[in-house]
Amino acid sequence: MSRVQPGCLWVVATPIGHRDDLSARAIETLRTVALIAAEDTRHSRPLLLHHGIATPLVALHDHNEREVVDALVARLQGGESVALISDAGTPLISDPGFRLVRAARAAGIRCAPVPGACAAIAALSVAGLPSDRFVFEGFLPPKAAARRSRLQELAGEPRTIIFYESSHRVAESLADMRDVFGAEREAVLARELTKMFETVLDEPLAELAARVAADPDQQRGEHVIVVAGRGEEADARLAEGQRVFAILREELPPARAAKLAAAISGAPRKALYES
Ligand code: SAM
Repeated sequence: MSRVQPGCLWVVATPIGHRDDLSARAIETLRTVALIAAEDTRHSRPLLLHHGIATPLVALHDHNEREVVDALVARLQGGESVALISDAGTPLISDPGFRLVRAARAAGIRCAPVPGACAAIAALSVAGLPSDRFVFEGFLPPKAAARRSRLQELAGEPRTIIFYESSHRVAESLADMRDVFGAEREAVLARELTKMFETVLDEPLAELAARVAADPDQQRGEHVIVVAGRGEEADARLAEGQRVFAILREELPPARAAKLAAAISGAPRKALYES
């Protein structure tokens, strides 16, 4: 009795802006699979047509992934190969696909990457911040209180931190980062990478937050925020801030003492207030 050889699930990265950032291997894979599972078929079709790819598409997004996964795994088990793509960049990186890859692996199906663009890595590669160790935080929570509390958890993180942010919240998020990580912390805003208005700004958080708040053009498009981890200078600043805060606290209410100690030492006001 002959057994069907299962297909392969190819996880294919697509461009994050410049449509020629699709590798030769990605084009070949997308042309030869039986089916492409795409986050938004209408969004991907122009890119695929530009590269002469006419493979049938099926939608796989956050709202239907549960239902579509079983059917795709059945087709893979039946011997068809399937490619997974998202709207931009690498699938599963702040994009759908996790359930499909997990289910395919659980079913013993080969999952193979066709690597390419990823906004986080593209931003890190030009940020000029330490890149030997880093953490990817994806999107911060949209509500202010939850966002600040997530940032608070990251305030002592020594590795470089990478965030994704939308145009609606980039100014607010930078202001929160300034308040929680401190005005002096080095940061990079990488906007519209590989597109016409690509901009990479590197400044301490206070300057960066002020510049973006004052210039609506800097809020347009897609953003990656890369923030330096907490370094030894930050520890020294905090120690100095705490020393000044302790002195001022004897004469002043805590909020006022924290504000002045932060201005004198450069340490984050919140960290002093809560110390
Ligand atoms: N899977 C994608 C990847 O590999 O980067 C990320 C998808 S996520 C839904 C979209 C977010 O990625 C945007 O809100 C932005 O933070 C970031 N992003 C995507 N393209 C970008 C670009 N060209 N320049 C800067 N950031 C970008």
